[in-house]
Amino acid sequence: MMPAYDDQNIFAKILRGELPCFKVYENAHTFAFLDIMPRTPGHTLVIPKAPARGILDISADDLAEVARTSKTIAVAAMKAFDAEGIIIQQFSEAVSGQVVFHLHMHVVPMKSGVALRPPQSRQEDATVLADHAARLIAALGSSREP
Ligand code: 5GP
Repeated sequence: MMPAYDDQNIFAKILRGELPCFKVYENAHTFAFLDIMPRTPGHTLVIPKAPARGILDISADDLAEVARTSKTIAVAAMKAFDAEGIIIQQFSEAVSGQVVFHLHMHVVPMKSGVALRPPQSRQEDATVLADHAARLIAALGSSREP
């Protein structure tokens, strides 16, 4: 049986402001921040404000909100990082590769010639992450969604 949601997970603490993050976007239902070990520049995590471990326990409405925000981030990331495509990934439960048990959608900008780093291979410098967050926030401010 699937374990219960644990509100002591890292992303719940980020959501409550108990741990720092490079926040790029927030609305009533979702929160988005940079992955601290990005697979490519601009790798962003979109999470629901509602407590959910993954795809199996999140409500359909909250999942739809996460998808909506992921789309917003994807469009802005194309511009901010001069990307040519986007990977969207979501892992549910340890066997799938999930490490943090608060649902998150990975939004990974892709550009030819820029290889994906392996998952969680290297913590990015704070100055680089700050620059990437600023670029994404600027693009979010000016993006018109198709
Ligand atoms: P999962 O395998 O659970 O889908 O991925 C968890 C992701 O969270 C990984 O990509 C990892 O780099 C990222 N991550 C782990 N700890 C932290 C943290 O403290 N802050 C941020 N921003 N990302 C984290």
